[in-house]
Amino acid sequence: MYNPFSWLKSLTRIIGFFVLSVALGFYVGEPLWAFALAAGFLLIINYIYLVQLNNWLWHSKKITPPDAKGIWGHIYDGIYYMQRRNRNKRKQLGTLIRRFREGSEALPDAAVVIDAGGHIVWCNRLARIELGLSWPEDVERRIDNLIRHPEFIAFFNAGKYDAPIVVESPTNLDKTLEYRMMPYGDQHYLLIARDITQLSQLEQMRKDFVANVSHELRTPLTVMTGYLEMLKDAPDMPEMFVTKAHDEMEIQATRMQSLVEQLLALSRIEASTERVYEKIVDVPALLATIEVEAHSLNKEKGHTISFDVDQSIVMYGVETELRSAFSNLIFNAINYTPDGGEIKVAWCTNAIGVRFSVTDDGDGIAEEHLNRLTERFYRVDKARSRKTGGSGLGLSIVKHVLSHHNSRLEISSKVGEGSEFAFSFSKQIVSNRIDAAS
Ligand code: ADP
Repeated sequence: MYNPFSWLKSLTRIIGFFVLSVALGFYVGEPLWAFALAAGFLLIINYIYLVQLNNWLWHSKKITPPDAKGIWGHIYDGIYYMQRRNRNKRKQLGTLIRRFREGSEALPDAAVVIDAGGHIVWCNRLARIELGLSWPEDVERRIDNLIRHPEFIAFFNAGKYDAPIVVESPTNLDKTLEYRMMPYGDQHYLLIARDITQLSQLEQMRKDFVANVSHELRTPLTVMTGYLEMLKDAPDMPEMFVTKAHDEMEIQATRMQSLVEQLLALSRIEASTERVYEKIVDVPALLATIEVEAHSLNKEKGHTISFDVDQSIVMYGVETELRSAFSNLIFNAINYTPDGGEIKVAWCTNAIGVRFSVTDDGDGIAEEHLNRLTERFYRVDKARSRKTGGSGLGLSIVKHVLSHHNSRLEISSKVGEGSEFAFSFSKQIVSNRIDAAS
C-alpha cells in the first residue's frame, strides 16, 4: 500500500538517533566520538542504498526495486512507479503508431511522409506499388531522386503546394496520378498520390463528345444560315433557287433532327434501368416490320435483300432497344453496299442460343477500322457517311444495346468482299414461342 512520505517523521528519526548516540557518548565519557560514529554510520547506510539503486537501475533484470527503509524506500518506489507509467505510455504509443500505420495501409491512395530536407521517412504499401518505392531501402533517400518526372520535380522544388499536379505514374505510363503535398507538424510533408486514370479518361471522353456534337451540328447549321442569308438579301430570287434552298435546308434540318434523336437514344440506352428479363420480345414480328422499312429504303439502291427468320424464336429483352440494334445493322448494310448488292439477314439458332447476322457483299472495311467502328462518331469515310445521313452513332448504339442484353457485336469484313455484322444471345435469354405462351 502507498505510504506518503513525511519529512517531519524522517527528521525526527534522524535527530532522535543523534540524541541517543550523544547521550550514550556522555555515558561512556566520549560524546564527540559518539556523534562522529553516528554520522559515519548514517553515511555508510546511505552509500549502501545508493550502490543498491545503481545496481538495480543498470545491472538488475528485476522490475521491482530492492527493499529499503525510510526515505530510500520512497525514492525506490517513486522510480518504480515512474518506470511503470512510462512503460504503459510506451505501450499505448506503440499501439497508436501501429493503428496509424494499419490505417494508412488501408488508404486508397499512395502516401509518403517526407522530412524538411525532402527525405523519405515512411511510405505505405500503395506508394511502393504506384510510385515504385522500396521499403525500407528508400528511407532517408530524397523523393525527387526516386520520382524523376520533370513536372513532379518542378512542383516539389517550387514549394507551393496549394494546388495538386496531374502527371503519369512512374511505374505505368497509362496511369494518371494526382500528387498533393500537405505540410504538417515540424516541417514535415505528407505526399498523397491518387490514381485518377478513370476520371481523366472520362473527362477526355466528355470533351471529345462535346467537340464532336458541336462539330456535327455546325455543318448543317452553317449551310442553313447561308441559305437564309441568301434568301433575305435577294428577295426576287428565281423560283428554281428558292426550291433548291428549301430542299437543301430540309435535308440539313432532317440531319440535325436524326443526330439529336440518335444522341437521345444513346443516352436513354446508357441510362436504361429497364430489366431485360421482364418482357418477351416477338423478334420475328419485329423483323417483319423492319423488313418493310428496309424494302422502302432499298428502292433507290436496288439490292437483293433476303430474310431468313426462325419464326419460333422469341427472346427476353427491351423491344425499343432491340429494334434499334436490328435496324441499325440492316440499314447500314443497305446504305454502305454499292447499288445492286446482295444482303442477307438471318435469325437462327446456334450452339450458344440464337444468332442474328446481316451479311452484305459491299466494299468491306479495312482491318484497321474494325476495332474502332463502335466508338461514338467514328466513320470510315466521313463524306460518304454524311451523304447517307450517318452520324457515326449507329454502331455505338448497337454496342450499348447488346451489352445491356449480355451480348456483343462481332464484325468480320474483307475489303472487296463484303461484311458481316452479327451477335448471339445465350439460351437463358432466348425463349421458344411455345414456352413463352405456356
Ligand atoms: P453511321 O451513322 O455513320 O452509319 P455507324 O456507327 O452506324 O455510323 O457506322 C460507323 C461506320 O461503319 C460507318 O460510317 C461506315 O463507314 C461503317 N459501316 C457500317 N456498316 C457498314 C457496312 N455494312 N459496310 C461497310 N461499312 C459499314
